[in-house]
Amino acid sequence: MSKVAVVTGGTRGIGEAISLALKDLGYTIAANYAGNEEKARVFTDRTGIAAFKWDVGDHQACLDGCAQVAEKLGPVDIVVNNAGITRDGVLARMSFEDWNDVMRINLGGCFNMAKATFGGMRERGWGRIVNIGSVNGQAGQYGQVNYAAAKSGIHGFTKALAQEGAKYGITVNAIAPGYIDTDMVAAVPAPVLEKIVAKIPVGRLGHAHEIARGVAFLCSEDAAFITGSTLSINGGQHMY
Ligand code: NDP
Repeated sequence: MSKVAVVTGGTRGIGEAISLALKDLGYTIAANYAGNEEKARVFTDRTGIAAFKWDVGDHQACLDGCAQVAEKLGPVDIVVNNAGITRDGVLARMSFEDWNDVMRINLGGCFNMAKATFGGMRERGWGRIVNIGSVNGQAGQYGQVNYAAAKSGIHGFTKALAQEGAKYGITVNAIAPGYIDTDMVAAVPAPVLEKIVAKIPVGRLGHAHEIARGVAFLCSEDAAFITGSTLSINGGQHMY
């Protein structure tokens, strides 16, 4: 039986590319999404991959969602914690809700999904968890105390959980993407984006499939000796 992978936020953007890359490896994919029904429908029609709706920031919804995936497709062997949001603003203008939503979804989602799946992976002696962090979690970014804190937290979470999973055949790694040409980056005002691109050593935005290839490698047997690592896929931006 093929391994089952849940990709959170897996129906569009980077997550869509990850769902497709893991499908190409022969895994059975469950693509989670939050509420964009149109994108999810088009994605499923086009790829044949099943989409499952729940909020990764809701602990019980993750337990129920993963139980539903297990019932329909089989126990979950691979989790890609990709779902994420931005609520940017300088501290003076950032509301508690903006802080809390980003922490609850971007960082809390990783905890909730691990709680829903780690025990089963441990019992079966095999698992892969890949968490999507960010170069802005490594370096910080003006106007993103919430996002940078959550993504930085993901990098710590990865190293801590990797230590718990190592002796059970479970690897836990992170990827730190730079700026990738998705809807999330389309929301950045053009003059700001120009300045950002000027600081990327390779001189361009990344593409979703460039992140997906990294995730696919970390989920493969070839990566069994890699755990607690962060792979920087950001055109060299993490060095600045
Ligand atoms: P998009 O905004 O294009 O897509 C976000 C995805 O996450 C959507 O599928 C969305 O579902 C889903 N999502 C959002 N909130 C929730 C939630 N509460 N529960 C479940 N799913 C949710 O983002 P990107 O593809 O650009 O980003 C993907 C990941 O990569 C994020 O974690 C982001 O922080 C990270 N990243 C992105 C970078 C970039 O430049 N794009 C750079 C560095 C990191 P729905 O379609 O239903 O709304």
